[in-house]
Amino acid sequence: MTLRTHPPRIRHLRAYTVDAPGGGDYHDQPTGHWIDDQIATPMAVYPEYRASRQSFGLNVLGSLVVEAEADDGTVGFAVTTGGEPAAWIVERHLARFVESVPATDLERLWDQMFRATLFYGRKGLVLNAISGVDLALWDLMGKLRGQPVYELLGGPVRDEQVFYATSARPDLAEGMGFIGGKMPLQHAPVEGEAGLRANIEQMRTMRERVGDDFFLAYDCWMSLDVPYALRLAHGLDGLGVRWVEEALPPDDYWGYAELRRGLPPGMLCTTGEHEAGRLGFRMLLEMGCADIIQPDVGWCGGLTELMKISALADAHGKLVVPHGSSVYSYHFVITRHNSPFAEFLMMAPDADAVVPMFSPLLLDEPVPENGRLTLPDTPGFGVRLNPECALRRPFAH
Ligand SMILES: [Mg+2]
Repeated sequence: MTLRTHPPRIRHLRAYTVDAPGGGDYHDQPTGHWIDDQIATPMAVYPEYRASRQSFGLNVLGSLVVEAEADDGTVGFAVTTGGEPAAWIVERHLARFVESVPATDLERLWDQMFRATLFYGRKGLVLNAISGVDLALWDLMGKLRGQPVYELLGGPVRDEQVFYATSARPDLAEGMGFIGGKMPLQHAPVEGEAGLRANIEQMRTMRERVGDDFFLAYDCWMSLDVPYALRLAHGLDGLGVRWVEEALPPDDYWGYAELRRGLPPGMLCTTGEHEAGRLGFRMLLEMGCADIIQPDVGWCGGLTELMKISALADAHGKLVVPHGSSVYSYHFVITRHNSPFAEFLMMAPDADAVVPMFSPLLLDEPVPENGRLTLPDTPGFGVRLNPECALRRPFAH
């Protein structure tokens, strides 16, 4: 028997924010970007907050960058959303568990961060912060072992991954090689019958612009109630709509179960980008809320928790198609049979070009070409921080 060889220990954990727009907080875009324009939201009941998501603060958090430095000088990092409040949680609370611990003890570190924050955490911002630390530690482990993260997760199950595109222009995405396109719903229930007709007509128009085999979907961003979602879904029947996404507020498990039972045959119910932790997804799975779950690896608890969420979904015969998150999702998706394709967020303002999601914050961020991507074998997540994006460390511990 040989004793465990000791990996480097973590010397320092640091949390930064980025004052420039874009990057980890991909919602923080200049005026006129499709991602902010006329999208149905839970705030649509207030007319003054209906036209723009930035008007009610969707971009208020900003980016969070977490760096984990091992005592051999190797640095792993990750980006997500969370900004100053998440930076405070990382520096003033989470760092105590991570520093001076072997750099590859990811399971123990995750468990300590989660248990220690239960009294004010469990979901939301605290899980963003834990996710950021966890992803930085996976990046560090890959660099220490000289392997890409997907190799640490068990290796790829396919040579390349295919993508659907999220944007206001699925017709443009079809020409770029994507397998399907998801549009944001524009009109909320408060906009009445005219809004409902406009939502259905918009999908009908898009269906006429794309081929029969190109799937379409609607992202409803928590803006509907069950009766409206059912009327919308049945109005879309026959238009090749593969799924209706996040129709209800994340905690309405009962509503999701009712919605899913009432959808037209062949139309799927999807949700989960604002869910967190394995127990949250257990609710979605066991209550029959979704056909595809869509955890965001930067928000749900990081890769360590996503592996458990995915295993649970697999046992329920459900797909996991993570929400956005670029390389942090890609390294996972390529290793899982029940993640047959990935999401690509079209971050060009008019959705007319493929640009990296976390631009300008990351360098070497891969993007699909003709809708397909083969991940490089660069250690860790294979990306670098752009030195031209100034980081700010608001709370040193
Ligand atoms: Mg969504």
